[in-house]
Amino acid sequence: MKAAVFHKPGDISVDNVEDPKILHPEDIILKVTTTAICGSDLHIYDGFVPQLRDEVLGHEFMGIVEETGAQVKHVKKGDRVVVPFTIACGSCFFCQQGYHPSCMHSNPEHYGPEGDLLKGKGGGMFGYTDLYGGYNGGQAEYVRVPFANVGPKIIPDELTDDQVVFLTDIFPTGWSAAKWGKVKGGDTVVIFGSGPVGLMAQKAAWLNGAERVIAIDPLEYRRAKARDVNKVETLDPNEDDLMEKIYSMTKGRGADVAIDAVGMEASRTFLEKVKTVINAEKGTSKVIEMCTQAVRRNGIVSVVGVYASPYDNFPIHRIFDKGLIMQFGQAQTHMYIDQCFELVRSGKVTLDDIITHRLPLSKASEAYDMFKHKTDDCVKVVLKPEM
Ligand code: NAD
Ligand code: ZN
Repeated sequence: MKAAVFHKPGDISVDNVEDPKILHPEDIILKVTTTAICGSDLHIYDGFVPQLRDEVLGHEFMGIVEETGAQVKHVKKGDRVVVPFTIACGSCFFCQQGYHPSCMHSNPEHYGPEGDLLKGKGGGMFGYTDLYGGYNGGQAEYVRVPFANVGPKIIPDELTDDQVVFLTDIFPTGWSAAKWGKVKGGDTVVIFGSGPVGLMAQKAAWLNGAERVIAIDPLEYRRAKARDVNKVETLDPNEDDLMEKIYSMTKGRGADVAIDAVGMEASRTFLEKVKTVINAEKGTSKVIEMCTQAVRRNGIVSVVGVYASPYDNFPIHRIFDKGLIMQFGQAQTHMYIDQCFELVRSGKVTLDDIITHRLPLSKASEAYDMFKHKTDDCVKVVLKPEM
């Protein structure tokens, strides 16, 4: 089959690779119909999440069940499903609490035979390096999906792929960001980053009752997208008086909730273009710093942007002084996918309005390059194996 294969940083090509096989009775093989490129893929592409051998990338995908293992009961051949990006058993201590990204059985690299925590790392992810279990991903014609009784969400025919594919990751991620921020009626929510994840967090903030949503991104075309599809107010983080503006918009208090939907990728690749993002010498995340400034005292900072290296100068003094609550992590897709699906099905939210490029899988290399460099006003790329 054809698949987008990561070879080394900056080097992804669409190659012929072996077809996936059922390895466990709870596996299915999925024929991929739509897959997307995520800001998280750029961490691998840029070399900040290291991968030393070739791997098929892609953790955002959906498709048709092609083959089922002997113990698969939840889906059957021919079902059309969206698959959560984290791989989870559904029954361990963490899965039972809705923290499927911490699954104790989906990442053999990190757990002993009894599921005991060996290295304090989390569960598996599709196409996300040997650190996350070394599973091949879904930027491919076919993909093996483990624990198929737990993750896949069956989609009715009346919804198109583009309407639902973001249930795999970024809408539940935006939803997790709002839930972790405990967004409620009357809140003002400041969201750093208007990439795909920030745009989804904006939708989730409105749906959770926010009164005011302020989106911040250095790229004007992405701010325009945010205004256009989500009717938010926007600000440029490079404006000198950014914090004064935020305070003047929030009765001098600061926002109730600040969301980091930027993470380290944008921080690093935009180093030349965006002076505010990161202080590379000090290794300080400018965005977390800005979130702690923009939020009010006793407010909440919710971080879905990915960080994979330690850094100094974490603003712990301000977090203490302002009495802030912070939550970080991989999104709780398994936990929220039904709720998120219902919002789409009932027409309360539209997700495909952020797609700017639909390309055949064979163009994956060009698509990565465009999404990384933010050229051609690219916001979100979906790839179609059969296009
Ligand atoms: P993206 O690169 O398309 O978007 C990042 C945006 O941040 C860009 O538009 C960039 O211009 C903007 N930005 C850069 N510096 C900024 C600043 N100082 N202030 C405001 N905005 C700034 O990526 P994406 O797909 O939207 O993903 C964003 C982050 O979310 C990534 O780190 C990704 O890994 C992460 N993510 C996390 C989860 C999770 O489960 N926690 C899931 C999906 C993605
Ligand atoms: Zn993703």
